[in-house]
Amino acid sequence: MSQPAKLVIRNVGLMLSGRMEAPILDADCLIAMDGKITAWGRAADLDTEGATTEIDAMGATLAPGLIDSHIHPVVGDYTPRQNQLNWIDSTLHGGVTTLISAGEVHMPGRPRDIVGLKAMAIAAQRWYENFRPSGVKVMAGAPIIEHGMVEEDFRDLAAAGVKLLGEVGLGTVKDGKTARQMVDWARKYGIQSTIHTGGPSIPGSGLIDAAMVLETGADIIGHVNGGHSALPDDQIICLCESCKMGLEIVHNGNERAALLTLNTARELGELDRILLGTDGPAGSGVQPLGILRMIAMLSSLGNVPAEIAFCFGTGNTARQRGLDTGMIEKGYCADFVLMDQAQHTPGKTILDSVQFGNLPGVGMTVIDGVIRSHRSRNTPPAWRIPKVLRQPAPSEGGGH
Ligand SMILES: [Zn+2]
Repeated sequence: MSQPAKLVIRNVGLMLSGRMEAPILDADCLIAMDGKITAWGRAADLDTEGATTEIDAMGATLAPGLIDSHIHPVVGDYTPRQNQLNWIDSTLHGGVTTLISAGEVHMPGRPRDIVGLKAMAIAAQRWYENFRPSGVKVMAGAPIIEHGMVEEDFRDLAAAGVKLLGEVGLGTVKDGKTARQMVDWARKYGIQSTIHTGGPSIPGSGLIDAAMVLETGADIIGHVNGGHSALPDDQIICLCESCKMGLEIVHNGNERAALLTLNTARELGELDRILLGTDGPAGSGVQPLGILRMIAMLSSLGNVPAEIAFCFGTGNTARQRGLDTGMIEKGYCADFVLMDQAQHTPGKTILDSVQFGNLPGVGMTVIDGVIRSHRSRNTPPAWRIPKVLRQPAPSEGGGH
């Protein structure tokens, strides 16, 4: 047996938990064993001996790795939507360590027949489980429901490892009654669902209004602020008030509608329903810094403390989707972003600077206890950059 992988991150200036009820931890040090968080607190009180990987955060901020709740991957680190390579690696440089598919809809020649769509969903789940671009976790294999599917199809998909439905409404099923039946079957077999909300995204997709969203009852109200076109204000308010489903705000949507959703959720005392996605790749491109940009936008224009806005892109998503990442919790995956106030931004702290609408500078990412990227090539430079004090040689393992 080889030595267990022990990660120690010390000199953390600020530790964010991802949990809205207590977003800031009293801690300057964190420990993970074999890729799972085991302890955090003051370094003097922790067993920091025997680290196989040791990071000096140099006073930078540690947060759970960001989660993008809404992407449209196809295969590997390539998207045919904008003919772009390495968009996932670029997204890692924006602090995102987990991506969740809302359907592999950009696959050229995507099958719409039932056996074909099931086969593609299972294959997509497998190819991203077997290959993580730059270490990023891509939860994919999200079939688009079509007319003619029966309960057995959902049972088969679940048995084959499919855990997500792609956006309801992107296929032929555009009526609430059929969608409801299929979402219920999916839920029965443990498959989570999301629904396209708002106007058509591109020629060929359709309008999904509040009545259809409510009738369908998917687990997540996908892009409640539209992707791109948002519903009228009264329908967005109705969605916030009439159900308890996740309110997903995306970068690729309407920013005014995003703020309306935020303000309505706050009035309801339900900010814990807000989760963030980019909805990329899409017509608007890919957004490597999309989740950071949403956090800064909602914090600054929506008057949300930055430490709460970070929860929208971490713990809220993890809780709504039942993931073991996105929060500093014992036994959760050691997935982190280390970042600091961007150089020459106003504000005394990273949180101030984000509340003024500026992005932080990412200095490092860690996934499953393994360093995956260093100073971001995409964010503005941070003042403080973490330093690696010890790291296993490639032959010692520590990778995947
Ligand atoms: Zn959509």
